[in-house]
Amino acid sequence: MEKTQQSFLTGKFTVLPVSQPTTMSLSLSRPPTPSKFTSASFSNLRPEKTQQSFMMGKHKKVVSASSNDDFFSRGRISVDGPVIVGAGPSGLAVASGLKQRGVSFIILERADCVAPLWQNGTYDSLKLNLSKEFCQLPSYPFPENFPDYLSKDQFISYIESYAKHFEIQPQFNESVLSAMYDETSGLWRTKTVSACGESIKRETEYISPWIVVASGANAEKVVPEFSGIHEFGGHIIHASDYKSGHKFGGQRVLVVGCGNSGMDISLDLCDHNATPFMVVRNPEVLRKLESEVEEFKLVPGIKRFSRGTVELVNGEIVEIDSVVLATGYRSNVSSWLKEKEFFSEDGFPKSPFPNGWKGKAGLYAAGFTMLGLYGASKDAIKVAEDIWKIWKEGTGHKKQPTAPAACYRRYVSL
Ligand SMILES: Cc1cc2nc3c(=O)[nH]c(=O)nc-3n(C[C@H](O)[C@H](O)[C@H](O)COP(=O)(O)OP(=O)(O)OC[C@H]3O[C@@H](n4cnc5c(N)ncnc54)[C@H](O)[C@@H]3O)c2cc1C
Repeated sequence: MEKTQQSFLTGKFTVLPVSQPTTMSLSLSRPPTPSKFTSASFSNLRPEKTQQSFMMGKHKKVVSASSNDDFFSRGRISVDGPVIVGAGPSGLAVASGLKQRGVSFIILERADCVAPLWQNGTYDSLKLNLSKEFCQLPSYPFPENFPDYLSKDQFISYIESYAKHFEIQPQFNESVLSAMYDETSGLWRTKTVSACGESIKRETEYISPWIVVASGANAEKVVPEFSGIHEFGGHIIHASDYKSGHKFGGQRVLVVGCGNSGMDISLDLCDHNATPFMVVRNPEVLRKLESEVEEFKLVPGIKRFSRGTVELVNGEIVEIDSVVLATGYRSNVSSWLKEKEFFSEDGFPKSPFPNGWKGKAGLYAAGFTMLGLYGASKDAIKVAEDIWKIWKEGTGHKKQPTAPAACYRRYVSL
């Protein structure tokens, strides 16, 4: 659960979506990329040549085809509830609160599943770091037979049944490129692009009275730049692409970062007969651990890499086979949300917990408390309750439904 760790940095770093694998072939010289689809690729979409209308569920869309082999469509959809950005635990928790009260919403997710950070971006040995009473999402308890500290797989199965139980159906593979408040209409305009087939892209603009930012404090992985890294020649991955130590058996692995992921991965490497060298700015703090686990070594900061070796700031040269960058994550909000009052440049609400959940003009946030799943639930309860209060005044709904409401999405095509 690291925030960006810049202690290893030479001043520059790269940010990549958590779902995108990190290998050195794509990495260090690449400019920050908030998602698979950049605003440049969005603006590059050509104007329509031919158009045909079709219906997708309750959406009315316009499909366009260019003369080349790539297809794209453009559409504008009006949502009479909030647009929720992100189908991680925070977005799903907000959605469940709205669903139970009969408030319409749409939930947009750039990946192809709920909670992709958990499904695709975590290692096999991960266990929740807080006991289960602090990790449960609102209105849906963990099964009684779950242990106090859930495994990653147990949490994923819980999250999947959470979405199923509340009949939450996110729009998958749909990346939010920008969202801005339109002063004239008093509505939010959220632009997305989605891949529908290998060469087909669809761009959509959602118009809504509210937007809920639930895109996560860990939306992008941070990949530091190190001197000489291109000469190294070994395997380099980010912690979000690390699954298990079994591929590293017998190797000497430099683990850059000593947060929760760096610690867990180092111990997992030991369990798989590898030798981790964990980079720690102040190794004295962790000397006890080093003395308890024979294979585990602590090393100070990195000076530069060369072929098969790393030179440390104390002048020591260590031979290594692979590098795991447990160098943290960051929010991507400032790359797509056109708003500067509520969110700061680092993509977090300026007001800390418990006040960072509501901005002005229908802007909400969930999951930026730095209190993990506990904070996500606290935010989500407040966000759903607040939107419902305003929504029911506008629709004449006075009673809070007790079961998931039939009314889910009510779109009006523009
Ligand atoms: C390795 C690791 C271990 C962790 N362990 C714990 C733990 O034990 N306990 C704990 O409480 N917390 C833990 N956390 C923190 C964890 O991130 C949160 O608890 C939880 O996932 C937060 O949920 P979220 O929905 O706010 O964010 P996320 O789970 O990150 O979900 C955000 C979603 O938004 C989507 N998204 C982002 N940008 C866009 C966009 N532009 N368009 C569309 N979709 C977008 C993402 O794909 C993602 O699905 C851990 C984090 C990591 C990385």
